[in-house]
Amino acid sequence: MDPLRAEAQEYRSHIARWVDERLAPQAQALDERAEFSHELFKELADLGYLGTMYPEDIGGSGLAYPYTCFTVLCEELARGSVGFAAGVCMQGSTATHTVYEWGNPELREKYLLPALKGDKIAAFAITEPNAGSDAASLRTRATKVDGGWSITGTKVFTTNGTVADFITVVASVDPSKKAKGLEMFVVDTQAKGFSVGRRLDKFSVHCSDTGELVFDSVFVPDSHKLQGAEGTSSFLNAYEALTVDRIFTAALALGVGQAAYDVALRYAKERVQFGQPIGKFQAVQFRLVDMLAKLEQARLYTYHACALADAKQSITTEAALAKIIAAENCHQVCEMAMAVFGGWGLMNEFPVQRFLRDSYFPMIGGGTGDIMRLIVARQLGF
Ligand SMILES: Cc1cc2nc3c(=O)[nH]c(=O)nc-3n(C[C@H](O)[C@H](O)[C@H](O)COP(=O)(O)OP(=O)(O)OC[C@H]3O[C@@H](n4cnc5c(N)ncnc54)[C@H](O)[C@@H]3O)c2cc1C
Repeated sequence: MDPLRAEAQEYRSHIARWVDERLAPQAQALDERAEFSHELFKELADLGYLGTMYPEDIGGSGLAYPYTCFTVLCEELARGSVGFAAGVCMQGSTATHTVYEWGNPELREKYLLPALKGDKIAAFAITEPNAGSDAASLRTRATKVDGGWSITGTKVFTTNGTVADFITVVASVDPSKKAKGLEMFVVDTQAKGFSVGRRLDKFSVHCSDTGELVFDSVFVPDSHKLQGAEGTSSFLNAYEALTVDRIFTAALALGVGQAAYDVALRYAKERVQFGQPIGKFQAVQFRLVDMLAKLEQARLYTYHACALADAKQSITTEAALAKIIAAENCHQVCEMAMAVFGGWGLMNEFPVQRFLRDSYFPMIGGGTGDIMRLIVARQLGF
């Protein structure tokens, strides 16, 4: 077996056991209570999983294929709970990646290291009430003041937002420059002027924490401004590197698609109608085969994309395609699982309704399918 597959397989066998024993049995209750589980989050951190993407010298796992292994982590966690997985995915990638890549040693020491141990919770906030897909139109301003910056604005849909200890915030230092005026700042949530507007109630991924955050003249020292290459905006600098996160969102879709397929297959063998298990009817068999086909197609492409990322190749097209293929295929898998369950699918005592609700998240988080198509179309020269 090649080294990439061997490392990923070993990694999967460990995390899959934790998901089956610890996360999956609690997932339904966490969903019903819309609870962010600090206990499971810390437990996972203590096992070292939050450091999957990072080298050993900063407390990471030091893996040879970090992107592939993080994709495995997102997929396996989402098989148990997409809501829980979404918070971990944010903590282990974008929210800490920004500090790792563009933060100074002080920021790494104060925020990154504790975040990889699960002692601090991290978030990343770009989306605003009036700036979603069109992120460059955001209104949060960072104004230069003596010794630092003053940040004012409102962010929405921030994953981990109401429980975060620090947040990488994207703000404009010069609105006339549009995207080129966007910079990233690490904001400590203890800072004066920061407040949680509200914790948002959702149709999907109940147990992920989603916040509306208010920044009212929040002072951040100069050292908290992330640094791009000389003369470039730190956000534009980061944009390329952060495209890998689209693959992790695709992995969340794979996890929930697999979970829906597993329960539907079992149900088709157990549920008896007209004197035989419904799986004896060819219509039900074909539905299950179509589900498997969509899942396998999505998995093959997603792991192709993260292997390219591990090989340090450009993945602009592949990451967007992975998100389109996996998110949309797996949403369809969840719809088909609902059909296999008939009326029982609508009942909260079966998880299949949760899987369908949660399968909407990967189609939107990190950019909608339309925006992914826009990105690929640009690569095609349009
Ligand atoms: C649960 C959840 C967690 C999230 N977590 C975070 C987070 O941690 N941090 C963060 O910053 N953001 C986060 N987001 C925000 C997410 O990235 C945005 O919701 C997403 O980018 C879409 O923005 P929007 O919701 O404002 O939709 P809009 O941009 O208003 O889009 C509405 C519709 O118009 C379409 N559309 C818009 N522009 C175009 C176009 N040019 N061409 C074609 N169609 C277009 C869209 O595809 C969509 O169908 C989260 C969102 C959710 C739902």
